[in-house]
Amino acid sequence: MNRRRAAALLAAVLLSGTACSDDDSSIWATTTAPSATSTLATTTSAPTTTTQAGTTTTGTTQAGTTSTAAGDPSGLGDPYFPELGNPGYDVEHYLVELAVDPVANTVEGAVAATAAATADLDTFHLDLLGLTVDSVTVDGAAAGFRREEGELVIDPAGLLPAGEDFVVTVAYHGTPLNLTTLGFPIGWVQAGDLTYVAAQPDGARTWLPCNDHPADKAAFTFRITVPEGNVVAANGSLAEVQDGPGVATFVWEMPEPMATYLATVVVGPLTRVEWGTAAGVVLRDYLPADLAADPPAPLTRVGEMMEFFTGFFGPYPFAEYGHAVVPGLPGALEDQTLCVFGREALETLFDAQPWTLGAEAVVAHELAHQWFGDSVTPSTWQDVWLNEGFATFAQWLWVEHARGAEAYRQEVAGSYAWVAAGPHPLPGDPGATGEELFADSVYVRGGLTLHALRVEVGDETTWEILRAWAERYAYGNAATADFVSLAEEFSGRDLGALFEAWLFDPSIPALPG
Ligand SMILES: [Zn+2]
Repeated sequence: MNRRRAAALLAAVLLSGTACSDDDSSIWATTTAPSATSTLATTTSAPTTTTQAGTTTTGTTQAGTTSTAAGDPSGLGDPYFPELGNPGYDVEHYLVELAVDPVANTVEGAVAATAAATADLDTFHLDLLGLTVDSVTVDGAAAGFRREEGELVIDPAGLLPAGEDFVVTVAYHGTPLNLTTLGFPIGWVQAGDLTYVAAQPDGARTWLPCNDHPADKAAFTFRITVPEGNVVAANGSLAEVQDGPGVATFVWEMPEPMATYLATVVVGPLTRVEWGTAAGVVLRDYLPADLAADPPAPLTRVGEMMEFFTGFFGPYPFAEYGHAVVPGLPGALEDQTLCVFGREALETLFDAQPWTLGAEAVVAHELAHQWFGDSVTPSTWQDVWLNEGFATFAQWLWVEHARGAEAYRQEVAGSYAWVAAGPHPLPGDPGATGEELFADSVYVRGGLTLHALRVEVGDETTWEILRAWAERYAYGNAATADFVSLAEEFSGRDLGALFEAWLFDPSIPALPG
């Protein structure tokens, strides 16, 4: 496969350095040895929101937590990012009020998180990297705080009882850091005259004090103030624009729960392009002026894709959808209701191959993520194939719809030949450290897992399973074991061996169908 082939397969965010190589063999250069102990049974245990024994600690005191939040107060024990997220509470809503200076690349303002305590809390943590914290209040009263690397440790004036809501407000300012978790800048990124957030997997904490793990989803309100001449796009629906002297405040509402990594704002001289509705969903893009005047062809088919996917997967989970096209991002990220798409990726990087649709397939991939990843969100990062395998399979379904059954067959066969050419990170257990979380094989072999399911149980049952998955776990979290169980429920078959072989066996099964 060539680099464009690799690029086209990598849709979520993600073009890692290896995938951009001209040398086919180097795609595998960072492959980690498959773990012999990885099995469905051991890797898909039920998610919990309590910390797990054995996670690393940062030396922070545990004195402030009670028995129901016992363990490390600095993280939820995610297999790959043990210090992301925090136990003891569940955020229900974030109010993000920031003034952005896109030239100086600074933010100043506050985040108010409304949360329910799930344990009696003397202290609790938020995740935050960099920036300067100016003050913290809890329910309006000043609270103590200290910084410990990526943790903001908050000491409220009184005990926060389990079961009761509280509001923690963090005022802060500064220039957000970039992280390079995936080999290119993530988090809050300044690129030319645009500033955007692409935070998957662990970059939300660079611009928001938050509970930065997919297991704690919350509604968001954004109130972003920018200098005149700039536009702000964010998740959800634009509620109002308030003009002030020399500035404008854009208010965006995202009422359905959202994982922190999917929160985005895009600031700059963007044009809002409205495409009307499809399947009852408002379609709007935020584009640079030249693209707004002549929109790229792949973006013009989103209405058709929306109608196609709602037929397969059930109702679209949100009120609106669209793209913000930004410079520099080497891929696209499925931010909830607003896919952030790299301009170069849209225009050249995802060139069409004989059996695929290039950028158009990636546009379909990102739209499918709104069901698979955004509405139904993995309980831990290890289960990211529930995002990427599903979105890859969905893009093949779009290819089948747009080009016919033979194009689907070629897409699947070509993908299989590519992934089977060498050892690769397994979709159910992509490496020991998380570095292979977004390996190409997680996408391709994850998609092939659903193709194998399709061949095994037939088209109608497969569509029933996908619809049921999207419905049962809508706006929540789920794990691989939940999907296997649901597939067995709807097919009436024992599918454990199929999923074990496709997700966890280093030797890839023969291509069915
Ligand atoms: Zn994806």
